[in-house]
Amino acid sequence: MFHWDNGLKLTRSDLAIDFRRRQPRAFISHAHADHIARHEYALCTPETAALYRFRLGKRPVRELPYREPIAWGGLRLTTYPAGHCLGSAMLLAEDGRQSVLYTGDFKLTESATAERAELVHAETLIIESTFGRPTDRWPPREDVIAQLEQLVRQTLAQEAVPVIHAYALGKSQEVTRLLTDRGIPVLQHRDIYAVSRVYEACGVSLGRHELLQATVEPGWAVVVPPRARTASIERAVHIAVTGWALDPGAKYRLRVDHALPLSDHADYGELIEAVERVGARKVYCTHGPESFVDHLCELGVDAAPLGRPAQRRLF
Ligand SMILES: [Zn+2]
Repeated sequence: MFHWDNGLKLTRSDLAIDFRRRQPRAFISHAHADHIARHEYALCTPETAALYRFRLGKRPVRELPYREPIAWGGLRLTTYPAGHCLGSAMLLAEDGRQSVLYTGDFKLTESATAERAELVHAETLIIESTFGRPTDRWPPREDVIAQLEQLVRQTLAQEAVPVIHAYALGKSQEVTRLLTDRGIPVLQHRDIYAVSRVYEACGVSLGRHELLQATVEPGWAVVVPPRARTASIERAVHIAVTGWALDPGAKYRLRVDHALPLSDHADYGELIEAVERVGARKVYCTHGPESFVDHLCELGVDAAPLGRPAQRRLF
């Protein structure tokens, strides 16, 4: 039903999945840069379409709203929320005999700015397993958010400027909404502010936020992309929010004062939960450590890595 050709393809419909190189027909699970290209024709959710066009200009797209199946090249295709960022989708492909669920980047926990993930049953599961080490476990989300709020309030109380470093698409909007919900207004770097316009056009309110200008008034938090130039901000306290914050020494590597593990990816526990809930007979793992496949096998799951030359022809 699918095969590997320098990337994942649905065989019968010749649909490329999350390719970074231009394709005649491609499904885009979400609009992060490592999942998109200037395809001749793309399939994605309406929200991903808005973000895709924002990034790459007006392009031909067939929109697949969540839970509304379409017939496509002999297959039935349905998207479900992936909980990763606005518009992020899992793809269920069915041919009448077999079914495949491709998760794309996903997380199972709540998000302030993305629909919560929905897992459906499929016979084959292709799972994105970036954080697939048993030590990849996020602390409870409420605890991380409380820690973020406390750090920001403490910084403001010291008449300093909290500068939060977060990916421009997804994490920045999530952090903005979490802070504005708690009464802390946010100034956004121009790259983030531009993406936020798309979020708001799609109906996701981000609260009181404005474009970052040369000066920062007291009482405002600032959100910038990772590695943004912030030398002009005086008395800045730098906070990174990323799953990689779990690594010891992350704050030194990221050159920030604090690093908090607020991730938009599933952690090890969520990955195992997703595998159990989908109940597939066969599981293929992408992006993650090979040890995750071993852990699944130890749990009695028929699992294999995806994308190695040995697995060139899967069905
Ligand atoms: Zn992503």
